[in-house]
Amino acid sequence: MANVLITGGAGFLGSHLCDRFIAEGDNVFCMDNFITGSPENIAHLMGNKKFKFIEYDVTNYIYVEEDLDYILHFASPASPIDYLKFPIQTLKVGSLGTHKALGLAKAKNATFLIASTSEVYGDPLIHPQKEDYWGNVNPVGMRGVYDEAKRFAEAMTMAYHRYHNVDTRILRIFNTYGPRMRINDGRAIPNFINQALNNEPLTVYGDGSQTRSVCYVDDLVEGIHRLLLSKENDPVNIGNPDEITMLGLAEEIRDLINPNCEIIFQDLPSDDPKIRKPDTTRANTILNWEAKVNRKEGLDKTIKNFKERLGM
Ligand code: UDP
Repeated sequence: MANVLITGGAGFLGSHLCDRFIAEGDNVFCMDNFITGSPENIAHLMGNKKFKFIEYDVTNYIYVEEDLDYILHFASPASPIDYLKFPIQTLKVGSLGTHKALGLAKAKNATFLIASTSEVYGDPLIHPQKEDYWGNVNPVGMRGVYDEAKRFAEAMTMAYHRYHNVDTRILRIFNTYGPRMRINDGRAIPNFINQALNNEPLTVYGDGSQTRSVCYVDDLVEGIHRLLLSKENDPVNIGNPDEITMLGLAEEIRDLINPNCEIIFQDLPSDDPKIRKPDTTRANTILNWEAKVNRKEGLDKTIKNFKERLGM
């Protein structure tokens, strides 16, 4: 039975992690300031003796009285529309927040895991992306606030590992989807599902030829759990390598919900990566992990959850 602190624990991924550690019998300390997280995501855990919620902004000094075995730093805006809305908070939580969470890990002798991202590869020039690729990031573009904060977070994590001997993990998360994503999250899958359910045109940005490889949340959570319990200090990609164009994804979601919906094309946001697909060899070999949920199954579950929340 471990004591686990999850920053950003009321967010999409954070709340699924809270559920996982509670299911393992661990004690979960969940921190969130609700900038993009939401109380509904953790409402079902309130009152559970093994769950403690602390409303807090982790860019400030973090004090936790109890011993901690694991700290998972998941606090951060994570949708491109959020980086535009909260650019300074995004930079602060990736830099100052990571520093504070690492300081806490050092003080508690806890294992630390940073939620990094495929965005560290920027608009990648190699494909699929392997962990030893250094990336192609525009530091002053609209996405720079997220990408550079996460790159700083990785550098800070390695510095605490090398100079303070903190036991650390670096997880590079590729596009993930599933129940509890905000309806108005702004990312492709929630947008397309919400639009199709409301009989609105699906908005594909650019010509829709850009690709992503989308992972169902349960697969991601399993990968995170395995990485945490491993001894791996170097970065590990976790994602589903099944690549699809955004037009293809819009068509797939349209056909699952409402084949009569129109698809319209809108401006491509600046610095939008043209291709993205994880090379998961390291996760396969080190963690014996691979994504198991195919897109149809994952989308069906996500659509069902969106319908429930929209009262349909
Ligand atoms: N996208 C789109 N329509 C939308 C939302 C997003 O075509 O309504 C595109 C976006 O331009 C990008 C891809 O879908 O090429 C994935 O975007 P998302 O915001 O989900 O995540 P990203 O991988 O860009 O962070």
